Amino acid sequence: MDASFTSASTVALGETETHQRVGARESRFLLQTYQRSPITIDRGEGCVFWDIEGRRYLDFITGIGVNALGHAHPRLVRTIQAQAALCLHTSNLFYHRYQGLLAERLVEWSGLARVFFSNSGTEAVETALKAARAAGNRHQPSRRKIVALHHGFHGRTMGALSVTGHEKYRRLFEPLVPGVEFIAANDRDALRRAVDRETAAVILEVVQGEGGIHPLSHAFVADVRTLTERAGAMWIADETQCGLGRTGTRFAYQRFEDVGLPDIVVTAKPLAGGLPLGATIFSEAAAAAIPSGMHGTTFGGGPLACRVAIEVLSMVDELLPHIRAAGAHLHERLRGLAGRHRVVTEVRGAGVMAGLQLSVPGDRYVDACLRRGLAINCTHDTVLRLLPPLIVSTSEIDEAISILDAALAE
Ligand code: PLP
Repeated sequence: MDASFTSASTVALGETETHQRVGARESRFLLQTYQRSPITIDRGEGCVFWDIEGRRYLDFITGIGVNALGHAHPRLVRTIQAQAALCLHTSNLFYHRYQGLLAERLVEWSGLARVFFSNSGTEAVETALKAARAAGNRHQPSRRKIVALHHGFHGRTMGALSVTGHEKYRRLFEPLVPGVEFIAANDRDALRRAVDRETAAVILEVVQGEGGIHPLSHAFVADVRTLTERAGAMWIADETQCGLGRTGTRFAYQRFEDVGLPDIVVTAKPLAGGLPLGATIFSEAAAAAIPSGMHGTTFGGGPLACRVAIEVLSMVDELLPHIRAAGAHLHERLRGLAGRHRVVTEVRGAGVMAGLQLSVPGDRYVDACLRRGLAINCTHDTVLRLLPPLIVSTSEIDEAISILDAALAE
Protein backbone atom coordinates (compact mmCIF):
# COMPACT_ATOMS: atom_id res chain seq x y z
CA MET A 1 0.00 0.00 0.00
CA ASP A 2 1.29 3.42 -0.99
CA ALA A 3 2.02 5.44 2.18
CA SER A 4 0.50 8.59 0.61
CA PHE A 5 -2.99 7.08 1.08
CA THR A 6 -4.38 7.60 4.56
CA SER A 7 -6.33 4.67 5.97
CA ALA A 8 -10.02 5.20 6.69
CA SER A 9 -9.46 4.88 10.43
CA THR A 10 -6.76 7.58 10.42
CA VAL A 11 -9.10 9.97 8.56
CA ALA A 12 -11.84 9.24 11.08
CA LEU A 13 -9.41 10.16 13.86
CA GLY A 14 -9.19 13.62 12.32
CA GLU A 15 -5.88 13.75 10.44
CA THR A 16 -5.95 16.78 8.16
CA GLU A 17 -7.52 15.81 4.86
CA THR A 18 -7.12 17.78 1.62
CA HIS A 19 -9.02 17.74 -1.64
CA GLN A 20 -5.88 16.57 -3.38
CA ARG A 21 -5.60 13.48 -1.19
CA VAL A 22 -9.33 12.70 -1.48
CA GLY A 23 -9.13 12.98 -5.27
CA ALA A 24 -5.98 10.86 -5.51
CA ARG A 25 -7.53 8.10 -3.39
CA GLU A 26 -10.70 8.09 -5.49
CA SER A 27 -8.87 7.99 -8.79
CA ARG A 28 -7.01 4.95 -7.58
CA PHE A 29 -9.85 2.96 -5.99
CA LEU A 30 -13.17 3.99 -7.54
CA LEU A 31 -14.83 2.94 -10.77
CA GLN A 32 -14.03 5.94 -12.95
CA THR A 33 -17.57 6.75 -14.07
CA TYR A 34 -18.09 10.23 -12.61
CA GLN A 35 -16.59 13.50 -13.77
CA ARG A 36 -16.66 15.36 -10.49
CA SER A 37 -16.15 19.08 -9.94
CA PRO A 38 -12.74 19.69 -8.35
CA ILE A 39 -13.82 20.29 -4.75
CA THR A 40 -14.53 18.06 -1.74
CA ILE A 41 -17.67 19.02 0.17
CA ASP A 42 -17.22 18.97 3.91
CA ARG A 43 -20.37 20.37 5.54
CA GLY A 44 -23.40 22.52 4.81
CA GLU A 45 -25.97 24.76 6.43
CA GLY A 46 -29.15 26.00 4.70
CA CYS A 47 -28.38 26.99 1.10
CA VAL A 48 -24.61 27.06 1.61
CA PHE A 49 -21.87 24.42 1.85
CA TRP A 50 -18.16 24.58 2.58
CA ASP A 51 -15.39 22.56 1.00
CA ILE A 52 -12.70 20.73 2.88
CA GLU A 53 -10.38 23.74 2.59
CA GLY A 54 -13.04 26.01 4.13
CA ARG A 55 -14.27 27.81 0.99
CA ARG A 56 -17.98 28.77 0.94
CA TYR A 57 -20.36 27.93 -1.93
CA LEU A 58 -23.97 28.84 -2.58
CA ASP A 59 -25.68 25.56 -3.39
CA PHE A 60 -27.86 25.96 -6.50
CA ILE A 61 -27.77 22.29 -7.52
CA THR A 62 -28.62 20.55 -4.19
CA GLY A 63 -27.05 17.21 -5.05
CA ILE A 64 -29.20 17.26 -8.24
CA GLY A 65 -32.48 18.28 -6.67
CA VAL A 66 -32.15 16.27 -3.47
CA ASN A 67 -31.34 18.62 -0.58
CA ALA A 68 -34.65 20.42 -1.00
CA LEU A 69 -34.61 21.80 2.56
CA GLY A 70 -30.97 22.78 2.32
CA HIS A 71 -28.23 21.28 4.46
CA ALA A 72 -28.50 20.28 8.12
CA HIS A 73 -32.09 21.49 8.57
CA PRO A 74 -32.60 21.36 12.36
CA ARG A 75 -35.96 19.56 12.04
CA LEU A 76 -34.42 16.83 9.89
CA VAL A 77 -31.33 16.54 12.09
CA ARG A 78 -33.53 16.05 15.18
CA THR A 79 -35.68 13.45 13.40
CA ILE A 80 -32.67 11.50 12.12
CA GLN A 81 -31.02 11.49 15.54
CA ALA A 82 -34.21 10.36 17.27
CA GLN A 83 -34.87 7.50 14.85
CA ALA A 84 -31.21 6.41 14.64
CA ALA A 85 -31.29 5.80 18.37
CA LEU A 86 -34.38 3.58 18.04
CA CYS A 87 -34.26 1.47 14.89
CA LEU A 88 -32.64 1.92 11.48
CA HIS A 89 -33.89 -1.06 9.54
CA THR A 90 -36.70 -3.58 9.80
CA SER A 91 -36.87 -5.08 6.27
CA ASN A 92 -40.30 -5.58 4.78
CA LEU A 93 -40.82 -8.79 6.77
CA PHE A 94 -42.26 -6.64 9.58
CA TYR A 95 -44.31 -3.49 10.07
CA HIS A 96 -42.95 -0.21 11.41
CA ARG A 97 -44.89 2.92 12.24
CA TYR A 98 -43.83 5.21 9.41
CA GLN A 99 -44.31 3.44 6.06
CA GLY A 100 -48.11 3.50 6.22
CA LEU A 101 -48.15 7.10 7.49
CA LEU A 102 -45.93 8.25 4.63
CA ALA A 103 -47.96 6.27 2.09
CA GLU A 104 -51.14 7.92 3.39
CA ARG A 105 -49.54 11.33 2.92
CA LEU A 106 -48.38 10.52 -0.65
CA VAL A 107 -51.82 9.20 -1.54
CA GLU A 108 -53.32 12.47 -0.31
CA TRP A 109 -50.73 14.51 -2.24
CA SER A 110 -51.08 12.62 -5.50
CA GLY A 111 -54.79 11.79 -5.60
CA LEU A 112 -53.86 8.13 -6.27
CA ALA A 113 -54.38 5.09 -4.06
CA ARG A 114 -51.36 2.92 -3.09
CA VAL A 115 -47.59 3.22 -2.68
CA PHE A 116 -44.54 0.98 -3.06
CA PHE A 117 -41.27 2.24 -1.53
CA SER A 118 -37.78 1.67 -2.90
CA ASN A 119 -34.43 3.47 -2.59
CA SER A 120 -33.93 5.61 -5.68
CA GLY A 121 -35.52 7.11 -8.75
CA THR A 122 -34.40 4.34 -11.04
CA GLU A 123 -35.87 1.64 -8.78
CA ALA A 124 -39.14 3.54 -8.51
CA VAL A 125 -39.24 3.67 -12.33
CA GLU A 126 -38.50 -0.09 -12.53
CA THR A 127 -41.51 -0.70 -10.28
CA ALA A 128 -43.72 1.40 -12.57
CA LEU A 129 -42.48 -0.40 -15.68
CA LYS A 130 -43.04 -3.82 -14.09
CA ALA A 131 -46.62 -2.81 -13.26
CA ALA A 132 -47.20 -1.65 -16.84
CA ARG A 133 -45.75 -4.90 -18.25
CA ALA A 134 -47.75 -7.03 -15.82
CA ALA A 135 -51.00 -5.23 -16.67
CA GLY A 136 -50.22 -5.47 -20.40
CA ASN A 137 -49.45 -9.19 -20.20
CA ARG A 138 -52.94 -9.87 -18.88
CA HIS A 139 -54.36 -8.88 -22.27
CA GLN A 140 -54.74 -11.20 -25.24
CA PRO A 141 -52.70 -10.52 -27.27
CA SER A 142 -50.33 -8.81 -24.82
CA ARG A 143 -49.87 -5.06 -24.75
CA ARG A 144 -46.14 -4.57 -24.47
CA LYS A 145 -45.16 -1.26 -25.99
CA ILE A 146 -43.83 1.53 -23.77
CA VAL A 147 -43.86 4.98 -25.36
CA ALA A 148 -41.12 7.30 -24.03
CA LEU A 149 -39.76 10.70 -25.02
CA HIS A 150 -36.51 11.74 -26.66
CA HIS A 151 -34.39 13.53 -24.04
CA GLY A 152 -36.43 11.97 -21.23
CA PHE A 153 -34.34 10.57 -18.36
CA HIS A 154 -35.53 7.81 -16.07
CA GLY A 155 -32.44 6.19 -14.56
CA ARG A 156 -29.53 3.82 -15.15
CA THR A 157 -30.82 0.34 -14.33
CA MET A 158 -31.67 -1.77 -17.36
CA GLY A 159 -35.43 -1.10 -17.45
CA ALA A 160 -35.23 2.60 -16.66
CA LEU A 161 -32.33 2.97 -19.11
CA SER A 162 -34.43 1.31 -21.82
CA VAL A 163 -36.96 4.17 -21.61
CA THR A 164 -34.31 6.90 -21.27
CA GLY A 165 -34.26 8.97 -24.44
CA HIS A 166 -30.51 9.62 -24.68
CA GLU A 167 -28.92 7.13 -27.06
CA LYS A 168 -25.43 7.81 -25.74
CA TYR A 169 -26.38 6.34 -22.33
CA ARG A 170 -28.11 3.27 -23.84
CA ARG A 171 -25.83 2.16 -26.68
CA LEU A 172 -23.08 0.44 -24.67
CA PHE A 173 -25.54 -1.72 -22.72
CA GLU A 174 -27.72 -3.08 -25.52
CA PRO A 175 -29.73 -5.26 -25.87
CA LEU A 176 -32.03 -3.49 -23.41
CA VAL A 177 -35.64 -4.19 -22.51
CA PRO A 178 -37.47 -4.52 -25.85
CA GLY A 179 -40.68 -2.83 -26.93
CA VAL A 180 -39.85 0.85 -26.35
CA GLU A 181 -40.79 3.52 -28.91
CA PHE A 182 -39.38 7.03 -28.60
CA ILE A 183 -41.17 10.13 -29.85
CA ALA A 184 -40.31 13.83 -29.61
CA ALA A 185 -41.57 15.73 -26.57
CA ASN A 186 -44.61 17.90 -27.37
CA ASP A 187 -45.14 16.24 -30.77
CA ARG A 188 -48.88 15.56 -30.60
CA ASP A 189 -49.07 13.90 -34.02
CA ALA A 190 -46.29 11.46 -33.17
CA LEU A 191 -48.05 10.70 -29.89
CA ARG A 192 -51.31 10.01 -31.70
CA ARG A 193 -49.51 7.62 -34.06
CA ALA A 194 -47.59 5.86 -31.26
CA VAL A 195 -50.31 5.16 -28.70
CA ASP A 196 -52.37 2.19 -29.88
CA ARG A 197 -53.94 -1.03 -28.59
CA GLU A 198 -50.46 -2.56 -28.18
CA THR A 199 -49.34 0.20 -25.81
CA ALA A 200 -48.90 -0.66 -22.14
CA ALA A 201 -47.77 2.80 -20.99
CA VAL A 202 -46.51 6.26 -21.83
CA ILE A 203 -43.75 7.48 -19.51
CA LEU A 204 -42.76 11.14 -19.28
CA GLU A 205 -41.43 13.95 -17.08
CA VAL A 206 -43.83 16.91 -17.07
CA VAL A 207 -40.68 19.07 -16.94
CA GLN A 208 -37.74 17.18 -18.44
CA GLY A 209 -34.75 17.61 -16.12
CA GLU A 210 -31.59 15.91 -17.42
CA GLY A 211 -32.77 16.57 -20.98
CA GLY A 212 -32.27 20.32 -20.45
CA ILE A 213 -35.23 21.67 -18.41
CA HIS A 214 -37.94 21.35 -21.06
CA PRO A 215 -41.53 21.77 -19.80
CA LEU A 216 -44.11 19.72 -21.69
CA SER A 217 -47.05 21.65 -23.11
CA HIS A 218 -50.49 21.48 -21.55
CA ALA A 219 -51.94 20.20 -24.85
CA PHE A 220 -49.39 17.37 -25.09
CA VAL A 221 -49.95 16.18 -21.51
CA ALA A 222 -53.73 16.40 -22.01
CA ASP A 223 -53.38 14.25 -25.15
CA VAL A 224 -51.30 11.71 -23.20
CA ARG A 225 -54.13 11.37 -20.69
CA THR A 226 -56.88 11.10 -23.31
CA LEU A 227 -55.05 8.74 -25.67
CA THR A 228 -53.76 6.35 -22.99
CA GLU A 229 -57.21 6.16 -21.45
CA ARG A 230 -58.75 5.42 -24.83
CA ALA A 231 -56.14 2.72 -25.62
CA GLY A 232 -56.36 1.08 -22.19
CA ALA A 233 -52.72 2.05 -21.46
CA MET A 234 -51.17 3.70 -18.41
CA TRP A 235 -49.74 7.19 -18.04
CA ILE A 236 -46.60 7.08 -15.86
CA ALA A 237 -45.51 10.52 -14.60
CA ASP A 238 -41.87 10.46 -13.52
CA GLU A 239 -41.72 13.24 -10.91
CA THR A 240 -38.29 12.27 -9.58
CA GLN A 241 -36.78 15.66 -10.46
CA CYS A 242 -39.73 17.99 -11.11
CA GLY A 243 -41.99 16.80 -8.28
CA LEU A 244 -42.41 17.46 -4.55
CA GLY A 245 -42.80 21.21 -4.67
CA ARG A 246 -39.98 22.09 -7.05
CA THR A 247 -42.21 23.69 -9.72
CA GLY A 248 -44.53 25.32 -7.14
CA THR A 249 -47.16 22.57 -6.86
CA ARG A 250 -46.94 19.31 -4.90
CA PHE A 251 -46.44 17.39 -8.15
CA ALA A 252 -45.64 19.01 -11.51
CA TYR A 253 -48.63 17.32 -13.24
CA GLN A 254 -50.86 19.31 -10.89
CA ARG A 255 -49.89 22.42 -12.89
CA PHE A 256 -52.49 21.17 -15.39
CA GLU A 257 -55.48 20.84 -13.09
CA ASP A 258 -57.98 19.95 -15.81
CA VAL A 259 -55.91 17.11 -17.33
CA GLY A 260 -56.75 14.40 -14.82
CA LEU A 261 -54.48 12.11 -12.85
CA PRO A 262 -51.70 9.81 -14.05
CA ASP A 263 -52.10 6.08 -13.38
CA ILE A 264 -48.66 5.88 -11.79
CA VAL A 265 -46.46 8.60 -10.24
CA VAL A 266 -42.76 8.07 -9.56
CA THR A 267 -40.92 10.16 -6.98
CA ALA A 268 -37.55 9.98 -5.23
CA LYS A 269 -34.67 12.52 -4.99
CA PRO A 270 -35.87 15.06 -2.34
CA LEU A 271 -38.42 12.73 -0.73
CA ALA A 272 -36.36 11.96 2.37
CA GLY A 273 -34.38 15.23 2.39
CA GLY A 274 -31.08 13.60 1.37
CA LEU A 275 -31.57 10.01 2.52
CA PRO A 276 -32.20 7.47 -0.25
CA LEU A 277 -35.90 6.80 -0.78
CA GLY A 278 -38.06 6.21 -3.85
CA ALA A 279 -41.81 5.82 -4.11
CA THR A 280 -44.08 4.53 -6.86
CA ILE A 281 -47.66 5.67 -6.38
CA PHE A 282 -50.49 3.79 -8.11
CA SER A 283 -54.15 4.23 -8.87
CA GLU A 284 -56.18 1.36 -7.43
CA ALA A 285 -56.47 -0.21 -10.91
CA ALA A 286 -52.73 0.09 -11.64
CA ALA A 287 -51.86 -1.34 -8.20
CA ALA A 288 -53.85 -4.47 -9.01
CA ALA A 289 -51.26 -5.32 -11.71
CA ILE A 290 -48.70 -6.52 -9.13
CA PRO A 291 -49.98 -9.41 -7.03
CA SER A 292 -48.65 -10.43 -3.62
CA GLY A 293 -45.06 -11.67 -3.64
CA MET A 294 -44.26 -10.45 -7.16
CA HIS A 295 -42.16 -7.41 -6.22
CA GLY A 296 -40.06 -6.44 -3.21
CA THR A 297 -36.95 -4.87 -1.71
CA THR A 298 -34.78 -5.30 1.40
CA PHE A 299 -34.07 -1.64 2.15
CA GLY A 300 -36.98 0.23 0.55
CA GLY A 301 -39.25 2.12 2.91
CA GLY A 302 -37.17 1.74 6.08
CA PRO A 303 -38.16 3.57 9.27
CA LEU A 304 -35.41 6.20 9.13
CA ALA A 305 -36.08 7.34 5.55
CA CYS A 306 -39.89 7.18 5.95
CA ARG A 307 -39.93 9.13 9.22
CA VAL A 308 -37.72 11.83 7.72
CA ALA A 309 -39.86 11.94 4.55
CA ILE A 310 -42.99 12.64 6.61
CA GLU A 311 -41.21 15.72 8.00
CA VAL A 312 -40.04 16.73 4.51
CA LEU A 313 -43.57 16.59 3.07
CA SER A 314 -44.98 18.69 5.94
CA MET A 315 -42.34 21.35 5.38
CA VAL A 316 -42.67 21.35 1.58
CA ASP A 317 -46.42 21.87 1.94
CA GLU A 318 -45.81 24.96 4.07
CA LEU A 319 -43.22 26.18 1.56
CA LEU A 320 -45.38 26.06 -1.60
CA PRO A 321 -46.32 29.80 -1.60
CA HIS A 322 -42.66 30.66 -0.91
CA ILE A 323 -41.48 28.41 -3.78
CA ARG A 324 -43.85 30.15 -6.22
CA ALA A 325 -42.64 33.60 -5.15
CA ALA A 326 -38.95 32.59 -5.15
CA GLY A 327 -39.42 30.94 -8.56
CA ALA A 328 -40.99 34.09 -10.03
CA HIS A 329 -38.07 36.16 -8.72
CA LEU A 330 -35.50 33.65 -10.01
CA HIS A 331 -36.99 33.56 -13.51
CA GLU A 332 -37.32 37.35 -13.69
CA ARG A 333 -33.64 37.77 -12.73
CA LEU A 334 -32.59 35.03 -15.19
CA ARG A 335 -34.47 36.75 -18.02
CA GLY A 336 -32.60 39.95 -17.14
CA LEU A 337 -29.35 38.01 -17.33
CA ALA A 338 -30.31 36.59 -20.73
CA GLY A 339 -30.86 40.15 -21.97
CA ARG A 340 -27.28 41.07 -21.00
CA HIS A 341 -25.44 37.98 -22.38
CA ARG A 342 -25.89 36.93 -25.99
CA VAL A 343 -24.60 33.44 -25.16
CA VAL A 344 -27.90 32.79 -23.31
CA THR A 345 -30.55 32.05 -25.90
CA GLU A 346 -33.47 30.96 -23.69
CA VAL A 347 -34.58 30.68 -20.06
CA ARG A 348 -36.80 27.67 -19.30
CA GLY A 349 -38.40 26.00 -16.32
CA ALA A 350 -40.91 26.55 -13.57
CA GLY A 351 -40.66 27.39 -9.88
CA VAL A 352 -37.16 26.82 -8.58
CA MET A 353 -36.23 24.54 -11.49
CA ALA A 354 -34.49 26.59 -14.16
CA GLY A 355 -32.37 26.07 -17.26
CA LEU A 356 -30.32 28.62 -19.19
CA GLN A 357 -29.98 27.48 -22.79
CA LEU A 358 -26.57 28.53 -24.09
CA SER A 359 -25.40 28.71 -27.69
CA VAL A 360 -22.11 27.01 -26.65
CA PRO A 361 -21.07 24.16 -24.27
CA GLY A 362 -21.74 25.09 -20.64
CA ASP A 363 -18.97 23.35 -18.66
CA ARG A 364 -16.61 26.34 -18.65
CA TYR A 365 -19.37 28.51 -17.13
CA VAL A 366 -20.03 25.89 -14.44
CA ASP A 367 -16.32 26.03 -13.57
CA ALA A 368 -16.34 29.84 -13.62
CA CYS A 369 -19.32 29.88 -11.21
CA LEU A 370 -17.64 27.36 -8.90
CA ARG A 371 -14.47 29.47 -8.71
CA ARG A 372 -16.69 32.37 -7.62
CA GLY A 373 -18.55 30.31 -4.99
CA LEU A 374 -21.70 29.14 -6.80
CA ALA A 375 -22.47 25.45 -7.40
CA ILE A 376 -24.63 24.70 -10.47
CA ASN A 377 -24.25 22.10 -13.21
CA CYS A 378 -24.52 21.71 -16.94
CA THR A 379 -26.93 19.22 -18.46
CA HIS A 380 -27.47 18.18 -22.06
CA ASP A 381 -24.12 19.85 -22.92
CA THR A 382 -25.41 23.39 -23.36
CA VAL A 383 -27.90 23.99 -20.54
CA LEU A 384 -26.92 25.53 -17.20
CA ARG A 385 -29.22 23.93 -14.63
CA LEU A 386 -30.28 25.61 -11.40
CA LEU A 387 -32.02 23.55 -8.70
CA PRO A 388 -31.62 25.60 -5.51
CA PRO A 389 -33.08 24.44 -2.20
CA LEU A 390 -36.82 25.11 -1.90
CA ILE A 391 -36.01 27.39 1.05
CA VAL A 392 -33.82 29.70 -1.07
CA SER A 393 -34.20 33.41 -0.19
CA THR A 394 -34.44 36.42 -2.49
CA SER A 395 -31.01 37.63 -1.39
CA GLU A 396 -29.47 34.22 -2.11
CA ILE A 397 -31.03 34.28 -5.59
CA ASP A 398 -29.61 37.78 -6.12
CA GLU A 399 -26.16 36.62 -4.99
CA ALA A 400 -26.32 33.67 -7.43
CA ILE A 401 -27.37 35.99 -10.27
CA SER A 402 -24.40 38.33 -9.72
CA ILE A 403 -22.02 35.35 -9.76
CA LEU A 404 -23.64 34.03 -12.97
CA ASP A 405 -23.43 37.52 -14.45
CA ALA A 406 -19.68 37.66 -13.81
CA ALA A 407 -19.14 34.07 -15.01
CA LEU A 408 -21.06 34.64 -18.26
CA ALA A 409 -19.01 37.74 -18.93
CA GLU A 410 -15.80 35.69 -18.93
N1 PLP B 1 -36.07 9.94 -13.14
C1 PLP B 1 -35.72 11.22 -13.31
C2 PLP B 1 -36.68 12.19 -13.90
C3 PLP B 1 -34.45 11.67 -12.90
O1 PLP B 1 -34.10 12.94 -13.06
C4 PLP B 1 -33.56 10.73 -12.33
C5 PLP B 1 -32.21 11.12 -11.92
O2 PLP B 1 -31.69 12.15 -12.28
C6 PLP B 1 -33.99 9.40 -12.19
C7 PLP B 1 -35.25 9.04 -12.60
C8 PLP B 1 -33.07 8.38 -11.57
O3 PLP B 1 -32.96 8.62 -10.21
P1 PLP B 1 -31.78 7.95 -9.36
O4 PLP B 1 -30.53 8.63 -9.78
O5 PLP B 1 -32.17 8.25 -7.93
O6 PLP B 1 -31.79 6.52 -9.65
